[in-house]
Amino acid sequence: MKSASLLAASGVLATGCNMPTAASATAPKKSFGLQTWSLGAELRDDVPGGLKKLAEMGYTYLELNGYNRNEGSFGRVPMAEYKKMANDVGIEIVSSHVGSAERGLHTRENFQSHLDHWKIAIDHHAAIGCKYIIQPGHPVTRSIEEVALIGEHYNEIGRIAKAAGIKFGFHNHEFEFRFVVSGGEDMLPFGQRRGLPEGAKTVFDVLLESTDPTLVTFELDVYWTVMGQNCPVNYMKRYPNHIRLLHVKDIGILGRSGMLNFQNIFDTAYSLGIEDFFVELEGLGAVPEHIGGGVTQFEGARLSAEYLINAPYFRW
Ligand code: MG
Repeated sequence: MKSASLLAASGVLATGCNMPTAASATAPKKSFGLQTWSLGAELRDDVPGGLKKLAEMGYTYLELNGYNRNEGSFGRVPMAEYKKMANDVGIEIVSSHVGSAERGLHTRENFQSHLDHWKIAIDHHAAIGCKYIIQPGHPVTRSIEEVALIGEHYNEIGRIAKAAGIKFGFHNHEFEFRFVVSGGEDMLPFGQRRGLPEGAKTVFDVLLESTDPTLVTFELDVYWTVMGQNCPVNYMKRYPNHIRLLHVKDIGILGRSGMLNFQNIFDTAYSLGIEDFFVELEGLGAVPEHIGGGVTQFEGARLSAEYLINAPYFRW
């Protein structure tokens, strides 16, 4: 994010909070976000205190999770109140992950139910000035036709979002890199390459090809793309109009595993004008210590922020 308001927020942070020691006094402050799912109960149990800690680590914007449509809240906190708490410490809420209706199943018959769900969610998020509203999980998909129908529905949801001044998007896991075939009854076994039936395509490719990038944005999770046996850099280059934001993620703390080539990822992102980067962490309890396990989620977020601040190839 490089908006004027964020640069202003950076100024607030530079004078109001403890800045990481690696940032020199004259260098422009780097700006990066976090997906709050990374923190789980550690944030939910003390939202104002947690947001203050994130600001001190250098996070300037967030993508939230935990949207509750009935309550108009994030977890137990009303949305406008959450936004105010974040803004009070110099953090912007720019995005939010919102679950699907109909347990992710899309049919011609249940389309209206999806539209009704997203209309409410879009209005709620537009009211607090969110830039993105993102469908975080893979929908139920068994064939090329089913994925293409989801793409059709996403275009319509994206049209409603666009009219409300917000961008609708989709975030991938590794499942979307499984293959489907025309008329199929399930995704093919994960990772299957040899002996694929003619015309087989990954769910992700069909979704990308069946959506209009002016209506549907893609948030590429670089870690899950690699876990799906694909290259995030290739995907960014193949679909530069679709992929406009990233989940920056490693197995544990950023940069520890060596599995992700973050320099290539950021160089490519900059060359394509991508500006929104959300750090994300899996549960660190299950991660080996040498790549970041054995610390709290907040400590993992702090060490990941430190990695970005110190990485010469991460420019903002
Ligand atoms: Mg992610």
